[in-house]
Amino acid sequence: MEKFDVIVIGSGVGGMACAEALQSAGKKVAVVEMDLWGGTCPNRGCDPKKVLIGAVEAKTQIRQLQGKGFAGLPKIDWPQLMAFKKTFTDPAPKSFQGSLNAAGIETVKGQAAFVSQDTLQVGSRQLQAKDIVIATGQRPNLPAIPGAEYLHTSTDFLSLPELPREMIFLGAGYITFELATIAATCGSQVTIVHHNSRPLRAFDEQLVQEMTAQMTAQGITFVWDTAITAARVVAENRLQLLTAGEKSYTADYVVAATGRIPNLEGLDLEKAGVAVNRGGVAVDEFLQTNVPHIYACGDVVAKHRPKLTPVATFEGSYVASRILGKAAAIDYPLIPTIVYGSPKLAETSQMIADSKAGETEKYLDLTNWFTYRRVNEAVSKAKLVKNAEGVLIGASVLSERADDMINFLTLCIQQKLTAADFEKMIMGYPTIASDLSYLV
Ligand SMILES: Cc1cc2nc3c(=O)[nH]c(=O)nc-3n(C[C@H](O)[C@H](O)[C@H](O)COP(=O)(O)OP(=O)(O)OC[C@H]3O[C@@H](n4cnc5c(N)ncnc54)[C@H](O)[C@@H]3O)c2cc1C
Repeated sequence: MEKFDVIVIGSGVGGMACAEALQSAGKKVAVVEMDLWGGTCPNRGCDPKKVLIGAVEAKTQIRQLQGKGFAGLPKIDWPQLMAFKKTFTDPAPKSFQGSLNAAGIETVKGQAAFVSQDTLQVGSRQLQAKDIVIATGQRPNLPAIPGAEYLHTSTDFLSLPELPREMIFLGAGYITFELATIAATCGSQVTIVHHNSRPLRAFDEQLVQEMTAQMTAQGITFVWDTAITAARVVAENRLQLLTAGEKSYTADYVVAATGRIPNLEGLDLEKAGVAVNRGGVAVDEFLQTNVPHIYACGDVVAKHRPKLTPVATFEGSYVASRILGKAAAIDYPLIPTIVYGSPKLAETSQMIADSKAGETEKYLDLTNWFTYRRVNEAVSKAKLVKNAEGVLIGASVLSERADDMINFLTLCIQQKLTAADFEKMIMGYPTIASDLSYLV
């Protein structure tokens, strides 16, 4: 039996943040990982996706400037782009394991399963600790339909050696919006099929409609209110998707981005008596499970907050501080969420659900603002929510620069900045930051 102060299961951003903080506070820590060191974000999530988005952004700006300095669109060379992406993903696992080891953290390769409340089995090894942190993340959920084995996931898409000619994305969540934008901009004919007509439910409906209109104008087809009932192969590299009605859809490649499910199987949580629900591991406001010395952080947690990298990191750091004796419950700051489509859509996650007295919301059309007109963006809009005192409390932005803008606005909201505060500051001009005084 090998003994540690803390064992972290999963080496994603949540587990890493937790393990590194505990180790630097003098704890003896082990991290168990059954797949790629570093988890989803650097290997099959945010980072590889954002590398591909880099090419999308470059081509989009040239498309916007057709007849305004550019004549003709460049072609994205998919195999070359994938080779560039691999320069980020290939070294990632070794680099993440190396940084854990360099910090003095024991890395254990294999699937961890609870034997009891303080002991884990990993292959032939038994590891014991006073505190255990479950940071096992989520994985793509394929729909339960006949022929599901022919469908692909976001992970497959991010490693495609050749770009398929015609693609269908199932489910209109943020992952579909992003990967479909990449595929379409790189030259694939793309259709998105969704079971209802309200995609990106967590985002402002009006701005979502503007976004889908822009994506439609770029050649992406949306099919609403359509549930796929089965998938079958109709020719070599050709798949047919059947619906309850007469309609069917065919493509060379189908990505099912129909939700993600928490990685709980194989953990044998019942042997430790840890409670779970449909959303993942059930925790309290201290990220403790019903077994107080077993914690959970990151995407595996059942929560009403967005399952995103900075949220998992924040939670991992919080769990470390809790194990080290912190008394206060976790206090989440404002969380910005971004859909890297074209245009991008971003908002502060705590947009006001039920308006309170005196709150106002207004939509601003920014399309003719210098920032956006100089690159000839088709549409740029913002929705701003202010409290009775006129202070910005929520924001939603649609533009090619929405990712940077939402972070600036999050800072303004978090710090309760007003136009009067901006009068005391000078921002470099012309930039999106120099627009802020007109938005707060
Ligand atoms: C395509 C895609 C794009 C995304 N884009 C963004 C983005 O742009 N911005 C953003 O903020 N977020 C993005 N996300 C979400 C982000 O990647 C996750 O929120 C984040 O990676 C969660 O980190 P985590 O530590 O909770 O879990 P993970 O990173 O998933 O790590 C969990 C680890 O646990 C391991 N594991 C599971 N079970 C066991 C076991 N029994 N024993 C041992 N190891 C185990 C897994 O192998 C995995 O490595 C994206 C996700 C996807 C899929």
